[in-house]
Amino acid sequence: MKKDLKAFTYGELKKEAEKLGLPPFRAEQIFIWLHRYGVTSFDEMTNISKDLRSVLSVRYYISSCVTEQKFVSKKDETVKYLFKLHDNEYVETVVMKYRYGYSVCVSSQVGCKMGCTFCASTLAGFKRNLTAGEIESQIHTAQSDLGIRISNIVLMGIGEPLDNFNSVVDFIYNVNSENGLNISMRNISLSTCGIVPKIKELMKLSLPITLSVSLHAPNDGVRGKIMPVNGKWGVDEILSVCREYSEKTGRRISFEYTLIKGVNDGEAYAEELSERLKNMLCHVNLIPVNDVRERKNVKTDKENIYKFSEILKSHGINATIRRTLGSDINASCGQLRRKRNEVGQ
Ligand code: SAH
Repeated sequence: MKKDLKAFTYGELKKEAEKLGLPPFRAEQIFIWLHRYGVTSFDEMTNISKDLRSVLSVRYYISSCVTEQKFVSKKDETVKYLFKLHDNEYVETVVMKYRYGYSVCVSSQVGCKMGCTFCASTLAGFKRNLTAGEIESQIHTAQSDLGIRISNIVLMGIGEPLDNFNSVVDFIYNVNSENGLNISMRNISLSTCGIVPKIKELMKLSLPITLSVSLHAPNDGVRGKIMPVNGKWGVDEILSVCREYSEKTGRRISFEYTLIKGVNDGEAYAEELSERLKNMLCHVNLIPVNDVRERKNVKTDKENIYKFSEILKSHGINATIRRTLGSDINASCGQLRRKRNEVGQ
């Protein structure tokens, strides 16, 4: 079976080149074509001989994403893509414009196994992991379609990044490479539902990326009801690995807290959360829950979100309320793939 040439890290590509009897500079040229220029065919590699291009095309393929649907928000210029992969699977990608530049939210898997009750990504089931090349292709296709350069990446689209650990880490190395997109690790955030052993593995790599943890509740009683993964690794375990992570890496952990009316938004929970996060290098991102047709979640009122945030702040916890972008185009993840699959059935 052909391998995705774009999924190799630079080190791996050099080894592949060696196997083919090629000098190291060839690996560098190929890496630049794939990662800096995002080419989708071997024929575009014009400084490489035709013969070598045909050798490569027998052994490898180059992953790519084809735009199936594109939505542009009239409110805030947010763009959402439904991308088709080579095996007719779909992923979603969102590009957001901020004052500092463009940020992209990429998917790491086709579907998700985690089963969070408020999330649309789980609804259409889990199909497969993306290769590192497929994760990166989302950025290449969006950049060339919009004629922009992306400066920030969030791994917050469909899927659980730490459930596809190796490909996600290779992707991070590749986009960070000077021969590739050259995006600083400080501009990359990885969001996880809290797979503790993988957080430990990530910690060992000491990458200066931002770790976001989807906490959504201060205790196991509430968290267990909305996040099945909590049955494996509870709040105590997650917070203790997060403390260790921030101490070891010196990086602030970002906790995601999606407020669902009557479920996790009571003032007592804000007090409890403050207690649990005491003296931790962290930040809490409060998110009004997005409407998902199949889910019966109700948004917490604006005043309550504000109150929740004030309670955290009164205890010295950094907290912000996330601005909702692209609300008119269903920009939150999982919703388009779900619709597309319904049509296809
Ligand atoms: N699996 C990873 C990343 C994907 S989800 C994780 O769990 O972190 C990205 C973020 O969006 C997570 O914090 C997730 O809990 C949140 N999210 C999912 N569905 C949502 C919804 N309907 N409204 C608000 N936030 C949601």
